Amino acid sequence: MEKVKTLIIGSGPAGYTAAIYAARADLKPVLYEGTQPGGQLTITTDVDNFPGYHEGKKGSEIMEDLKKQAQRFGSDIRIGMIVEADFSKRPFVCKTDEGKMIEAETVIISTGASARWLGIESEKEYNGYGVSACATCDGFFYRGKTVAVIGGGDTATEEAQYLSKLCKKVYLIHRRDELRASKVMQKRVFNTPNIEMVWNSVPIEIVGEQKGFSKAVTGVKIQNVQTNETSTIAIDGIFIAIGHSPNTAIFKGQIDLDEQGYIKTTPGSTHTNIPGVFAAGDVQDPHYRQAITAAGTGCMAALDVERFLASLED
Ligand code: NAP
Repeated sequence: MEKVKTLIIGSGPAGYTAAIYAARADLKPVLYEGTQPGGQLTITTDVDNFPGYHEGKKGSEIMEDLKKQAQRFGSDIRIGMIVEADFSKRPFVCKTDEGKMIEAETVIISTGASARWLGIESEKEYNGYGVSACATCDGFFYRGKTVAVIGGGDTATEEAQYLSKLCKKVYLIHRRDELRASKVMQKRVFNTPNIEMVWNSVPIEIVGEQKGFSKAVTGVKIQNVQTNETSTIAIDGIFIAIGHSPNTAIFKGQIDLDEQGYIKTTPGSTHTNIPGVFAAGDVQDPHYRQAITAAGTGCMAALDVERFLASLED
């Protein structure tokens, strides 16, 4: 069994920032990157609001910078996942996807959040055949075509904006009559001629057809939530952008979560209900969910670990 002082689970801005601070504090952090090294920022386009990058920068490049910075101070950053965690006693025991056992004096959870799905049957049926949750990953396949984006937040408006540059037409379908997105994003969407808003509507079925050995989306059936009327919009692809769920499945029953599954932390700190286990970033933040707030809590988590370990020596 490998013994480590500080195990960091997850590699978004929270995880890497925690690693920078923990390494500088000589906590010899070991960080497991998880399924999406670099986290959600790696599948976004230009990031204009991360302080310091005054001309904007690709999300993936910002994450590469953060990773290199963490490595410069000696963080041990590893490809792989933590698949099991036992927080019943300290040191905590965690298992990787390769079956390796790690005994950690302290743990920082920074596993982030993942895209949410509508939960309708046809969404599963056409996933990968016209249904996607990532415009920057899959938008390329819809050049010159017509697509729909579902949602009304910053993600949906950003995806619609991105797709409008590649596609002939983008329908932005939202369940209310006003967007949740920031004013600047709303303005961009309303000023883009090939984005058409479809208000007060929810998708009830994704329509498609068999194409040889494959299949393809041909439309989305929507229902107006005010009139209950249904109609079908012809599209070639659909992007679901309705928010995120925290990645806390492996911690269920081990650590206090709120009703949405976010890790509960003591306000103003990164302490969870288990002494020695800390949480940072989107996994504990249903409110702000910004790269910079995640990085901020990553810093806090490393400082909290340092103080926790020091308090044991007192
Ligand atoms: P969000 O703000 O939670 O928005 C989710 C949107 O999806 C809402 O408009 C919501 O409708 C809609 N929705 C939720 N469930 C739905 C369902 N079952 N059917 C249809 N529509 C549904 O999520 P987000 O847009 O992913 O943003 C998350 C956070 O990241 C936010 O804090 C955002 O500011 C941030 N973010 C920032 C940037 C940036 O600064 N560059 C980019 C992306 C995201 P209602 O409005 O009716 O609830």
